[in-house]
Amino acid sequence: MSIARDLFELQEVDLEIDSSERAIRQMTAQLGESQAILQAGSELASEKEHLEELNHQQHSLESEIGDTGAKVVRIEEQLYSGRTTNPKELTSLQQEAGGLKARRSGLEDKELAVMEEAEEAAARAAAIAARLKKLEAEWRAEQKQLKSGIKERKQQLAGLGEKRVSLSAGIEPETVEFYTELRKGKGTAVARVEQGICRGCRISLSSAELQRVKSGALIECTSCGRILFLA
Ligand SMILES: [Zn+2]
Repeated sequence: MSIARDLFELQEVDLEIDSSERAIRQMTAQLGESQAILQAGSELASEKEHLEELNHQQHSLESEIGDTGAKVVRIEEQLYSGRTTNPKELTSLQQEAGGLKARRSGLEDKELAVMEEAEEAAARAAAIAARLKKLEAEWRAEQKQLKSGIKERKQQLAGLGEKRVSLSAGIEPETVEFYTELRKGKGTAVARVEQGICRGCRISLSSAELQRVKSGALIECTSCGRILFLA
């Protein structure tokens, strides 16, 4: 086996390790609370609060309507009982009853409007609750998938780590160190040579360089400095 091939294989493993680590980082970043769920939850809470307020308003209107109605009944009783005969007093009672009836009718209109508003608020709250439920189900499924994805990638990473150890055990430590430094600077340390071209920098190799690369020795590209590997 040539050194270049050994290093190329090591690089293949290292690139897979990089990609697994990147995937784990991305998936880990997606774990946790969802902004959309938090948002929908707070929308639902405020809609429910609004609804409660409307229900409260409706109850106080109802009791006010009841009180006003009771007053009307009392006055009309007095009016038609025959106990009051003074015309001035009768007129005043009639006016009072008329005023109370108008007031009751106004309160009833108000109650109707509040009830309609409450109905709309309840429909909105139900729609938000349904949306929230859907979001939560999606979020749970996504989190589950992310967790199993992370677990899978970590297992893969453990396998790759073992592979890396056994591959680098067959290479001189100084060579591995040289490769590692090169990779730190350039991302890839080993470049394939295809049709006489270094795939790292796309520069044509001289025939003398190509000959040396063919020997399998550790040859660096004169242009980009990467270790050249001819498959
Ligand atoms: Zn090159």
